[in-house]
Amino acid sequence: MSSQWIYLDSKFVRKEQAMVSVFDHGFLYGDGVFEGIRAYSGNIFKLTEHLNRLYESAQSIMLAIPYTKEEMEQIIVETIRKNELETAYIRVVVSRGPGNLGLDPASCSRPNVIVIAEELALFPKELYQRGLRMGSVASRRNRPDVLSPQVKSLNYLNNILVKLEANQAGVDEALMLNDQGYVTEGSADNIFIVKNGKILTPPVYLGALEGITRNAIIDLAHQHGYSISEAPFTRHDVYTADEVFLTGTAVEVIAVVDVDGRTIADGTPGSVTNHLLAEYRNVVQTDGVQCYPSHKVSAV
Ligand code: PMP
Repeated sequence: MSSQWIYLDSKFVRKEQAMVSVFDHGFLYGDGVFEGIRAYSGNIFKLTEHLNRLYESAQSIMLAIPYTKEEMEQIIVETIRKNELETAYIRVVVSRGPGNLGLDPASCSRPNVIVIAEELALFPKELYQRGLRMGSVASRRNRPDVLSPQVKSLNYLNNILVKLEANQAGVDEALMLNDQGYVTEGSADNIFIVKNGKILTPPVYLGALEGITRNAIIDLAHQHGYSISEAPFTRHDVYTADEVFLTGTAVEVIAVVDVDGRTIADGTPGSVTNHLLAEYRNVVQTDGVQCYPSHKVSAV
């Protein structure tokens, strides 16, 4: 089987040839931005939202992406087609590009644009049936007034540190608090709690990425008549919730059944979580930018 095609620096190359310079400031300093996107049955879910977030992250760090959003959309669709994928995970990376060893981005002549698309290995079904164990960690979410969590930058050390802590503690995911002790999010996913029929998620200004799955779940919850709102909450509220779940492009919607050793309700995924997961999996199948419109029978 021939290897994957990667979009790298204005052309498609084979995976084995997909190399970037050691002088790229993305590598030297984590100077760049990225997105993780998913395609289901040839439809790229929420592509516009992902592109908007990518371009906003880039704007925030004064990184001029050398393509319009329309061109970038075409490149992503082309990457899916070239690899003949239907259900895929897509990684878009825009780094500052090669420069000299000093950290000043002024030495970088041109940003590097990379698009990787590959068949998605789904998370095991048992994980959704069993639910995750989560633990709060000592490292705090970085403060929005220092480095905004809305900048989805290549510097993911804050998130990597909490993942290490979670691994050390033997739990599946880290619960990140902000500097005041309010719940923010997981290492790569947003958090929701359900209490007395009401769904809550922390406002992003407390220090969470405004997740695209998060927003899709808020919309779906509204459509299905749930009471859902953004409000600050603490670990106590998580420990005493009826349900806890996480959302993210990769994980979709997944239950959390244990937090810091406290079993959540009866320790199994709850009905609101299961319902929203089912609705989400329904929507992603049909919603999105079609990569293969010619699949429709032509009139000629
Ligand atoms: N928070 C963080 C820190 C993340 O990295 C991610 C994954 N992009 C999320 C939340 C979930 O965001 P989304 O639903 O857009 O994938």
